[in-house]
Amino acid sequence: MAKKIIPALDFKGDWNYSPAPEDTKHINLQKQYELFIDGKFVKPAKGKYFDTINPATEQVIAKVAEADDSDVNKAVKAAKTAYDKVWSKMPAKEKGKYIYRIARMIQERAREFSVIETLDGGKPIRESRDVDVPLAANHFFYYAGWADKLEYATPNRVSKPYGVAAQIIPWNFPLLMAAWKIAPALATGNTVVLKPAETTPLTALKLAEIIQESGLPPGVVNIITGAGKTGAALVNHPDVSKIAFTGSTDVGKLIQKSIAGTGKKATLELGGKAANIIFEDAPINQAVEGIVNGIFFNQGHVCCAGSRLFVQESVADIVIKKLKDRLETLIVGDPLDKNTDIGAINSKEQLNTINKYIKIGKDEGAEFYQSSCNIPSKGYFCRPTLFINASQSHRIVQEEIFGPVLTIQTFRTVEEVIEKANNIPYGLSAGVWTDKGSKIFNLTTKLRAGVVWANTYNKFDPTSPFGGYKESGFGREGGMHGLMGYLKF
Ligand code: ADP
Repeated sequence: MAKKIIPALDFKGDWNYSPAPEDTKHINLQKQYELFIDGKFVKPAKGKYFDTINPATEQVIAKVAEADDSDVNKAVKAAKTAYDKVWSKMPAKEKGKYIYRIARMIQERAREFSVIETLDGGKPIRESRDVDVPLAANHFFYYAGWADKLEYATPNRVSKPYGVAAQIIPWNFPLLMAAWKIAPALATGNTVVLKPAETTPLTALKLAEIIQESGLPPGVVNIITGAGKTGAALVNHPDVSKIAFTGSTDVGKLIQKSIAGTGKKATLELGGKAANIIFEDAPINQAVEGIVNGIFFNQGHVCCAGSRLFVQESVADIVIKKLKDRLETLIVGDPLDKNTDIGAINSKEQLNTINKYIKIGKDEGAEFYQSSCNIPSKGYFCRPTLFINASQSHRIVQEEIFGPVLTIQTFRTVEEVIEKANNIPYGLSAGVWTDKGSKIFNLTTKLRAGVVWANTYNKFDPTSPFGGYKESGFGREGGMHGLMGYLKF
């Protein structure tokens, strides 16, 4: 096929936007946050606190309580008492009303939640405003509806809740992950102790304020903060019957080992390294947008990020050219600015990990490419990065980077791309771009991934199940499937 001549584009001229920062005056933040146990905010037993910082400015936002074993014990006891005395006896319809109320209250305070999510985590305000917060409210709405209809989800089978659910969440979608965890647990009649990640605890603590205001009986939801040690104490508490964990594969493996033989039920949503596959018959411009959304959404801090691009050889040149052009138009910078496309990397530690992988990629010999954008001198930022001509054996192809770094490989046949896409320890998600429905169906049945998006990417809906295979974990969250992890038969 003759190569098309692609004219060079000028990105130097009119691409600068005036600043459009979101206002922060309307938010209400305290200097210090306590543990939310049994319906009250209480000080940690040892009086220890840690800082949560704004990764875009490196400034401390607030001090947050660090829960030790005795605090964990207190929270689990509160959840167990609330389960035994109140929640397990309350009619399902009444439980549903509380969940609806929480959903509505998140909507009412959506603007405040969005700003705090962006301040604490570094994601662009456009994403927290348009994705994280509305989806979190939707999860509560969706599962509120199931609370009094569980018999339709499990026809002819009698189901029961587990009791106390321990829920541990990561830092990439703090409020949304709290919603994914708490809403189905409550709808199925469990009580909860939730631990947010140590770098992003603030929206979970704001959610605790809403839960308190909603009048949910004390102890039904407890929110405790701390790092891995707090999480481990929670997982290992004998009165916890169910564990729902989202985070790294390494910690997921630790959890599985520590609960082996205890009879505790677990669902694990772990890492990913998704293939985003572009066929020559794909709508190329839309596919380029899908590539950008797949890997640069939330700075690539997404377990289902489309971090491995596979382009059919015949269109590789044009796709890579258009992708490089599109990279030049992406705005990296102040997460509170409404024009920002790529915000701050969540922590210094994560930026170090990403930079380590960028070095590995260069050493491995893939062709390194970054956009020429300016990045702020303060805060943790990373330019959108491509590694062209990466190989299947490269570590940057096999390992999860969790940042704005895309590897690019080419392929010739359908069989070849299926083989390469599946040849990875993970199996969380994938994307397929083609004009042919038959090709989509062929791939969706052969790709070993929990979610396969066709001609789109990173689409989420509370009604749709999400979860992985292999080292990406097990169990599903979202949809009717999401109820099953919280019910025993
Ligand atoms: P990430 O790469 O997202 O930081 P982690 O798995 O380290 O992934 O963190 C996800 C969540 O798991 C966080 O809330 C963290 O505090 C918690 N965590 C870390 N180590 C442990 C552990 N050993 N047991 C339970 N939870 C843990």
